[in-house]
Amino acid sequence: MSVLDLARPEIRTMQPYSSARTEASGGQVMLNANESAWEPTGEAGAGCNRYPDPQPQALLQALAMLYGIRTEQLLVGRGSDEAIDLLVRAFCRAGQDAIVIQPPTFGMYAVCARIQNAVVIDVQLADDFSLDIPALLAAITPAVKLVFLCTPNNPSGKSMSLADIEQVAQALVGKALLVVDEAYIEFSDQTSAIELIDRYEHLAVLRTLSKAWALAGARIGSLLANPEVIALLRRIMPPYPLPLPCVAAALAALSPSGQAAASAHIQIVREQRAFMRRSLAELPGVREVLSSDANFLAVRFDDAGAVYQRLLQAGIVVRDVRRYPKLQDALRITIGTPDENAKVLAILKSMVDDRRFADGSA
Ligand SMILES: *Cc1c(COP(=O)(O)O)cnc(C)c1O
Repeated sequence: MSVLDLARPEIRTMQPYSSARTEASGGQVMLNANESAWEPTGEAGAGCNRYPDPQPQALLQALAMLYGIRTEQLLVGRGSDEAIDLLVRAFCRAGQDAIVIQPPTFGMYAVCARIQNAVVIDVQLADDFSLDIPALLAAITPAVKLVFLCTPNNPSGKSMSLADIEQVAQALVGKALLVVDEAYIEFSDQTSAIELIDRYEHLAVLRTLSKAWALAGARIGSLLANPEVIALLRRIMPPYPLPLPCVAAALAALSPSGQAAASAHIQIVREQRAFMRRSLAELPGVREVLSSDANFLAVRFDDAGAVYQRLLQAGIVVRDVRRYPKLQDALRITIGTPDENAKVLAILKSMVDDRRFADGSA
C-alpha cells in the first residue's frame, strides 16, 4: 500500500491547472500570461509585473539545506497554515473522513477540517499536557486520514519526545498520515521529526519562518514529506502561492547574516523565557507557569480575566486561552524584548500592590 491510497481518489486523478509559468519559462519576450509589460511604480514592486515562480529554486534549496532534506520532499506555501489546509483537502472526503487532534492545541487543524466538512476527533492531552498514546491509538478508525501532533504544543508549550512520535508513526502505518507541527521547535532542545521522513512515507512535518525566523508577515511555511505527498499537494495548490517580495524577504532571512540574527534572537528568547518563568512564578496571584519549549508561556492566574484587562489597559495584549480545555484559568504570554517583558512584570506587580492596599494589608 502507498500513502497515496489514503488520499481522495478524485484528487489523485484530476487534471491540475496548468499555469503559463509552468508551461513555459526561460524566454526573453514573455507574451503568454497577459501580464503588464511595465514594472509597477515604487521600489517594493520591482519585478512584480510578472507572475512569480510557483516554487522558486533558490528558496527551495535554502530551505532544504536548513531542514536537511531534498527539495522534492519540500512544499513551500503561505505559512504552514496553507499546508494544513491542503492536507485536509487532499486527504479528507467531505462528510466521511476525519482528523484526530489533541486539545488543548492549535486551532487551525479543526478549522480547516470543518471547512472541508471532515469530522474532528478530539483526544485530550493528559493533565500534564503530555501525549496520551493509548487514547490516541484507540481513537483511530478507518475514517481517520490525518493525525496532527503539535510539538512544542501551542498553547501549552510542552514538547513530545521523538520516541513517542515514532511510536505513533509505527502504529499508523497503512492507516493515516501523521502530521507533526514543529512551528516552535527552534526554541526547544528536542530533535526534529524530519529525520523520520525517510523511514515513514506517511509522516509529514510542518515548519515555518513565522516564529523563530521573524517572518510572520511574509507568510512562508513548509511541508516536509515524502515526494509523492508533496507532488499530490502541488496538484491542488493555487498556481502562484509565493509573492515575489516575500520570497526575497525569506532569502534575506536565510542568508548567513540572517541566520546569525535569528540565532541571537532565539538565544535571547530562551534566556528571557527562563527569567519570566521564575519571575512570574514568584508573584502572588500566579498559580502556575507551565514549563515551555516555545517562545511563550502559559500562565495560570487566580483571576486571569482581571490580569488580561489590566495588561490591556496598559497597552499590552496577551492571549486569553481560557476557552481551551485544561487551561480555564490561563493566559498565554509571548516572550518579547527584555523591555517588554519587564513591563509585563511591572504591571503584574502593581496589581499585587493595589490589592494589598485595598485589603489594608499594606
Ligand atoms: C503560528 C503557528 C502556525 C502557523 O504558522 P504560519 O506558518 O504562520 O501559518 C502553525 N502551527 C502552530 C502550532 C502555530 O502556533
